[in-house]
Amino acid sequence: MDSTGKVIIFSAPSGAGKSTIVNALLERIPNLDFSISATSRAPRGEEQHGREYYFLTDPEFMERVERGDFVEWEEVYAGTHYGTLKSELQRIWDKGHTILFDIDVKGGINLKRLFGEQALAIFVMPPSIEELRRRLLSRGTETPEAIDRRIGRAELELAHADRFDRVIVNDNLAQAIAETESAIKEFLGSSTQ
Ligand code: ADP
Ligand code: 5GP
Repeated sequence: MDSTGKVIIFSAPSGAGKSTIVNALLERIPNLDFSISATSRAPRGEEQHGREYYFLTDPEFMERVERGDFVEWEEVYAGTHYGTLKSELQRIWDKGHTILFDIDVKGGINLKRLFGEQALAIFVMPPSIEELRRRLLSRGTETPEAIDRRIGRAELELAHADRFDRVIVNDNLAQAIAETESAIKEFLGSSTQ
């Protein structure tokens, strides 16, 4: 990276409550901008191109991989790609803001390696796998097969929590948000830009 700025990385098994916590923080902490990833999956519910994700077809996605447009990308689920565009980082840093990433666990570890001390890497931990399944079921956005796939992946991801700077257990939501907010404020206040 030739441009600098601080970054906050959020990773968690799907359903742990990462988006819920991230949305609360975006409202509470000024100058924090969500990094909009590109994905080849279809929009879900009310999702809009350029707000939650840049929705690309798989050939478009792979063409941009070939062009070297991504900082990192992954096939998070079989046949579904997700990645962070270099242009997205520049867009946020140009405003002098801090980037907030919502990224899978492998991608989070890669970004932490890339950004080092510039990054605060946070792992959102569900209280248990059973509770994770309950939350995915109650969210109601995935088929039973997709939920099984996400649970299978979660079991592997939980083993990597110790690679992150902070682990936040999301049992009581208000408490998890407060804990995360103070960790971010401490990080942003303590290092020089
Ligand atoms: P992720 O972004 O990690 O996939 P979401 O933020 O979409 O997860 O949360 C999954 C579901 O769990 C949502 O329906 C959300 O409202 C719910 N949820 C989030 N945090 C909690 C919590 N602490 N207790 C109970 N339900 C929660
Ligand atoms: P979802 O389909 O639920 O929006 O996201 C599925 C997973 O992909 C989540 O774990 C999410 O954090 C991850 N993800 C979203 N954007 C990126 C990205 O740019 N890169 C990587 N590696 N993972 C991402």
